[in-house]
Amino acid sequence: MDGRVVRMRQALLEGPETLRVVDAAQPEAGPGEVLVRVIRCGICGSDIHAFKGLHPLVRYPLTPGHEFAGVVEAVGAGADGSLLGARVCVEPSLTCGRCAPCVSGRYNICTDLRVMGFQAPGAFCERIAVPAGKVHLLGEGLGFEAGALAEPLAVGVHALARSGVEPPGRVLVIGTGVIGLMVVAAAVAAGLDVLAVEPDAGRAAKALSLGARRVFSPEEALDRMPDVDEAGAVFECVGLAGTADLAVRLAPRGAVVVIAGVFPGAVGVRLNLVQDGELDMRGTLMYRSEDFVRALELLGRGCLEATGLVSHSVPLQEIEGGYRLAMSPDVPTLKVMVEVGEDG
Ligand SMILES: [Zn+2]
Ligand SMILES: [Zn+2]
Repeated sequence: MDGRVVRMRQALLEGPETLRVVDAAQPEAGPGEVLVRVIRCGICGSDIHAFKGLHPLVRYPLTPGHEFAGVVEAVGAGADGSLLGARVCVEPSLTCGRCAPCVSGRYNICTDLRVMGFQAPGAFCERIAVPAGKVHLLGEGLGFEAGALAEPLAVGVHALARSGVEPPGRVLVIGTGVIGLMVVAAAVAAGLDVLAVEPDAGRAAKALSLGARRVFSPEEALDRMPDVDEAGAVFECVGLAGTADLAVRLAPRGAVVVIAGVFPGAVGVRLNLVQDGELDMRGTLMYRSEDFVRALELLGRGCLEATGLVSHSVPLQEIEGGYRLAMSPDVPTLKVMVEVGEDG
């Protein structure tokens, strides 16, 4: 440490709809931390919420970005020195380690959960310091773009685990945007029979390319195809009142309904159907370390390669354009990737 402050470029969300790339001091790896040179970071639906001023947990100004991969460039005191130079992705959750959920191992529902890019600085910047225990090594042949997809895929892996459905079971996924597609990918990889409900033809095609056996329109699904009647779990992956209602109406008797969509507030559910059909309603939030490990294993097997999930890429300097693309009703986007640093 010679006291010199190294500068870097950093995206800063200064307030709703105001995202700029600014010059900032580069962080250093503190005790137990590593410094990651960020190479790829994806734009998530929740980032768009923060951009629009609709995210309840965000305080401005903030550097967003939580779906990222890069290279470990420095290792802080007490952190594993063998990580230096490693190609990694990062689990962006920061937890207290002391609350009842943390102690029981369910740290993804920590009562003091903070997530990089929301309540803590995120990765739309050239360097980020993170706890060494939060990095996961990218396997041989796994690129940084795939590494940045480990985070959303881990969401799907965790949601699937919450359902408890095992092969040769069947699941029904409602909504095949990015998170729904991740549930489809995890379920197909687990050897399950996967059906989906999705009105958009492009998104339906993506689900089929990932291995879903059939994709229905909501109207078709409500005709209660015999197929749907044997699903052990229904996943709500949209976060709207209408799709929550659809999930409960489509759930076969005795099924598990997994709520993966993020809702803006209270929505009504037909509790008469929950009671009468002994439905199990389960929430799912983010993921834990084992879900990240499984996601990386699936990515290593090329489980998302057929999809072309990354529909657009933009350099860091044009990040606001990337956000606007992701928000545009006229451009069908799935994942917009930000090229934060040079790959190599
Ligand atoms: Zn996300
Ligand atoms: Zn905790």
